Amino acid sequence: MITYISELITGDYQRAEDHSIPENHLNRNKRIVQFFLFAMVIDLMLIMAEFAAGISPLEDINRHPWLYAYIFLVTVAAFTFFGAMVGSREDQLEKLALRDPLTGLFNSRYLWTRMDEEWATGKREKSDSSLILFDLDFFKRVNDRYGHLVGDELLKHVGKILKHAARRGDVVARIGGEEFVFFLPNTSATAAAAMAERIRDTISREAFIIDRKHRISITISAGVASTNDYNSTIPRTLYAAADKALYLAKKNGRNQVVTSMDPNKEVHGKVEIRV
Ligand code: GH3
Ligand code: MG
Ligand code: MG
Repeated sequence: MITYISELITGDYQRAEDHSIPENHLNRNKRIVQFFLFAMVIDLMLIMAEFAAGISPLEDINRHPWLYAYIFLVTVAAFTFFGAMVGSREDQLEKLALRDPLTGLFNSRYLWTRMDEEWATGKREKSDSSLILFDLDFFKRVNDRYGHLVGDELLKHVGKILKHAARRGDVVARIGGEEFVFFLPNTSATAAAAMAERIRDTISREAFIIDRKHRISITISAGVASTNDYNSTIPRTLYAAADKALYLAKKNGRNQVVTSMDPNKEVHGKVEIRV
């Protein structure tokens, strides 16, 4: 019973494993305060109504203190509990609105919000921020050959590899069909390129077993861009630079990482990184 009540308040019974968004109970806490105050106002209004009806509430309270205490506590507790439930649901919905339902990674809405936030921090701290844009190679062929459902399973699998590779503070998002983004605050272009290369290497070595008969090998291409100039570069410029680098990676034969060292200049080419 106690577990059930706590689940009702926190919404735990529906929550998927999710450690990458910090636990946030902002709505729940706000609603608890609001509903608590609301219950107090209702109790006060009842006493005022007694005054208006010519009944002296003070005499009444002296005569039946336990009855008044009971009514007061029950209304406050019931409203606070209800507030906690409503607020928890709001927290949960906000969280779901930032996720891609297939892979459980963040969606583009969250990515852009976090990049805007990091821009403000980066400006203050003058640190490097990097962005890696991944795109699976010839993914359409997988769908054509094995079907869309198998394609979905493969996307989930790639999502897991990316999630596993992410460090605390990194943002991993799925922003299109088979396109993924890593946003890496406090990370240089070289470190980001090394990370992209490790992920590319892992994916190219893995064989995805769809059923007992089919093993699929797939490769991924990546474009990396980095900046520490938050005045002349905006998040979209960094993204566009990574996109250009990705385009080059595709053009140069896929299954590779291309790094743009300056988001406001043309892409330099492939950076050799050992893993
Ligand atoms: P390239 O190496 O140039 O990136 O080739 P590609 O085939 O990966 O690229 P293209 O853009 O031609 O095709 C992307 C395919 O991704 C097309 C679409 O069928 C597939 N796709 C997009 N979203 C989903 C999805 O949610 N699930 C599945 N299974 N497939 C998807
Ligand atoms: Mg694509
Ligand atoms: Mg592709």
